[in-house]
Amino acid sequence: DEAQHAAQADTAPQADGAQPAAHWDDTCDVLVVGSGGGALTGAYTAAALGLDTLVVEKTAYFGGTTAYSGAGLWLPGNPAQERAGVEDSAELARAYFRAVVGDAVPHALQDAYLDTAGPLVEYLERDEHLRFEFRPFPDYFGAPGRIDGGRSVYPCDLDQPEGGHPLLAAVRPPAWAERFELPAPDGPLTDGRALIGRLLLALEGAGGRTRLRTALTSLVEEDGRVVGAVVTDEAGHTRRIRARKGVLLAAGGYEGDAGLRREWQGLRGADWTMGPAGANTGDALKAAVELGADTGLLAESWWCPSVLFPDGTAAFALGFRGGFFVDGSGRRFANESLPYDQMGRALLAARAGMDDSNQVWWIFDGRYGDELPGIVVVPADRAAFTEAGLWRTADTLEDLAVTLGLDAAELTATAKTFNTYAASGEDADFGRGTDPYDRFFGDGTGPNPCLVPVEEGPFHAVRIVLGDLGTKGGVRIDTDARVLRADGTAIEGLYAAGNTTASVTGPYYPGPGAPIGSAMVFAHRAAEHLVR
Ligand code: FAD
Repeated sequence: DEAQHAAQADTAPQADGAQPAAHWDDTCDVLVVGSGGGALTGAYTAAALGLDTLVVEKTAYFGGTTAYSGAGLWLPGNPAQERAGVEDSAELARAYFRAVVGDAVPHALQDAYLDTAGPLVEYLERDEHLRFEFRPFPDYFGAPGRIDGGRSVYPCDLDQPEGGHPLLAAVRPPAWAERFELPAPDGPLTDGRALIGRLLLALEGAGGRTRLRTALTSLVEEDGRVVGAVVTDEAGHTRRIRARKGVLLAAGGYEGDAGLRREWQGLRGADWTMGPAGANTGDALKAAVELGADTGLLAESWWCPSVLFPDGTAAFALGFRGGFFVDGSGRRFANESLPYDQMGRALLAARAGMDDSNQVWWIFDGRYGDELPGIVVVPADRAAFTEAGLWRTADTLEDLAVTLGLDAAELTATAKTFNTYAASGEDADFGRGTDPYDRFFGDGTGPNPCLVPVEEGPFHAVRIVLGDLGTKGGVRIDTDARVLRADGTAIEGLYAAGNTTASVTGPYYPGPGAPIGSAMVFAHRAAEHLVR
């Protein structure tokens, strides 16, 4: 192993035994840090453009949070939409995006996203391994240019070849499998795993290299230019990798770093995020900041309501079909059908569900049996939840209030008012069910499908906390994904995309697939700039 490394070294040790300043253990044109959707899109593009490309991934799996995801991709105006008969364009998307994001982010950066999105899908589909399809999922804001049925595309499912493929075997298992320490399911790769699998095959086809269990620890700068990086390899050895053209940081956010979460977000810790355990701890962000990178949106996440699990972790929950949420006052505080990021912001605004001080409970009635009337991305086992006190049941709402330590009169009054709204079809407090996004999940049979009365015992309460899909503050980039200093100049040779950067969406989540879609766009643009 050592001999192999010595053979790879660009510069042999000097006769006196001292290492020359530029001793390298490996060399490439482009070093890509991380292996989510952004990283692999950038790596694929760079390799396809003829650059010797090396991907280093810290964990034992490829894919990061992207592998856990639904892999909706908000890439408006693309050929997969066109094939499905969805009329869209960069212009229509621009009207919508501007209405939502406004001036929170430089317009040039927004335009780089919107103008590259559609052509990127077209570019990727030229590769035999990359195929996308449209699936309906509404945009998240009622703003001009919205498409009510949605405009996101998804990777097509990916069949595994006979006998398997080593790269596909190393795609991170789904979140539920990892939580229960189960192997990845057999059969085709779907959703985020399909995206990662497809990009890995395309990258391999284009001659790119990959290394698992290899973590960036710092960047190497010469004369103000990034020329490589220091990594720790799977044996725990420190290696210096030279990157002739540059380094692309796409190593996720800092969601896994409890200290930074407390410092920048005022949150209690890091166990309620959906980021894979131990993966995204802001390593790339910290390395870039050491070289003078400017940062933005550091307090921001892609927020979501989450169900609290007995082991102290939490899981992303959405599509609440039944029941309502109350905080410690026993009253509702928001439209429970809000898109998840907006619900997360409602929790933040109410300073609720962030710790034990103002607990939030999802109250629903007996009509759902043992099922939760909503989608939780990791299955919740009622018996274990009940034992942990995270799922409570009582024959009456008054008794339920007592077990929750809530004012019984407040909780029953809340239910009574809610049931009046269900009967009339109008949520006079929060307008639940007025938006196409709300109704996408609603399946009630009354006048408003999102308002189902809470009236049949037994009554249930499940604990809801503020979680996230990842943080989205980080280094500031320009339209070519070059990392910027505070004075607006670019750090030569350093690029970033995805949750390592201050998001192009600012403090908003415009539509399904914005996180990965924007990561892919800026990583792709980085590669196009790197080849120049
Ligand atoms: P990641 O995909 O997390 O990749 C970062 C990688 O970098 C990880 O593999 C990590 O191990 C690696 N890494 C970290 N540090 C180092 C280091 N020092 N050296 C080397 N490697 C390192 N978003 C969408 O756009 N559409 C959806 O449909 C969608 N659905 C979601 C569903 C779920 C259940 C969840 C949890 C999230 C969903 N999201 C979705 C959000 C989205 O998955 C993430 O925001 C996005 O994938 C983040 O991409 P990233 O490339 O920044 O980070």
